[in-house]
Amino acid sequence: MGRVFLEHIGGSKLFNCAQCQTNLTNRSQLISTRFTGATGRAYLFKRVVNLTFSNVQERVMLTGRHMVRDVMCKSCDAKLGWMYEYATEDAQKYKEGRVILEYALISETEGFQGESGSIH
Ligand SMILES: [Zn+2]
Repeated sequence: MGRVFLEHIGGSKLFNCAQCQTNLTNRSQLISTRFTGATGRAYLFKRVVNLTFSNVQERVMLTGRHMVRDVMCKSCDAKLGWMYEYATEDAQKYKEGRVILEYALISETEGFQGESGSIH
């Protein structure tokens, strides 16, 4: 189905797809490590690249009702977590547009040293 164009977010302390090592995000995008997903611990990130998204689904969580999309790796299609599309509770609005990655489904690497943010 044609070429898949992948981005690289750069930086050090990278988070990658555990299955195919595609770069997803880095430590500077990390908002919180205090989330729980289907597989256990999950992290909330500001920006994550190289994802595909499912249709919007309604999900009731401990923190209220949310509209979310499942997120999958653009390269290998492994499910990685979900994105908050819309939160009904005002206190949860900061999560809108943010992405949860389940820690068991990603791998953390040191990345590259130096100032360059563009590594291919
Ligand atoms: Zn992958």
